[in-house]
Amino acid sequence: MTISKSQIKDLLDENREHECDSFGEDICVRIAAIADLPTRFGDFQIVAFRNNRDNKEHVAIVHGDVCGGEEVLTRLHSECLTGDALGSLRCDCRDQLQSSLETIAAEKQGIVLYLRQEGRGIGLVNKIRAYGLQDHGLDTVEANLALGFRDDEREYGVAAHMLASLKVKSIRLMTNNPRKIEDLEKHGVKVTERVPHVLPPNKHNAFYLKTKATKSGHFIDLNGYKHLMEQDDRPILQGMDEDQIKVVESQTAPKSSNGSEAG
Ligand SMILES: [Zn+2]
Ligand SMILES: [Zn+2]
Repeated sequence: MTISKSQIKDLLDENREHECDSFGEDICVRIAAIADLPTRFGDFQIVAFRNNRDNKEHVAIVHGDVCGGEEVLTRLHSECLTGDALGSLRCDCRDQLQSSLETIAAEKQGIVLYLRQEGRGIGLVNKIRAYGLQDHGLDTVEANLALGFRDDEREYGVAAHMLASLKVKSIRLMTNNPRKIEDLEKHGVKVTERVPHVLPPNKHNAFYLKTKATKSGHFIDLNGYKHLMEQDDRPILQGMDEDQIKVVESQTAPKSSNGSEAG
């Protein structure tokens, strides 16, 4: 079961003139196009959204007929050019994206909301600036700050609107960050369950099993890079002990640029 041709026509028709203020002043998205998207991770449909306030384009990668669906397994993913497309090892975004697509493809229905908010909203240049600061041996405080001045609220507003546009009634959220559920609920999303996001270890992420997180929740990889939080939450790796899982679940990315999260 997929979103049918007649459903697609209805969705496009009703979105054509859509305009609302329900999710924040600068957030109103319209479904602009829908197409099949077979991938190496499974068969999906891709739903392209345009924000008619800031012209940002987002996509929902959808498996099954999610319209009107309840308890739809859902994952929020923030765009990461360096990780998702280039295979960067400075973050684990690509592993997270791939495993969420594979998990969702195995379900009856599910959604990955791919939010075009690079570096969690700070933009590509600021993200690379944060990497550069790390390369020059500066404390990660600055790097954290560079990654810290994004607007979390906005991200949840966009996600909530996309789910509403797709007429999803309730979701099971794939996340290791319990606080994220509250944030989505604040924007009117009904979340019935939290599903831990667990990754299999590979040669690139196995360091998570060996290193204790630093006080601020950063993990240091085998090349000595501290991994900044580029997604909303950290993956749990198969084989992590209880203490490590606790660190993952208790940590959240900094909410604002107040610099309280020292490195
Ligand atoms: Zn709207
Ligand atoms: Zn990344």
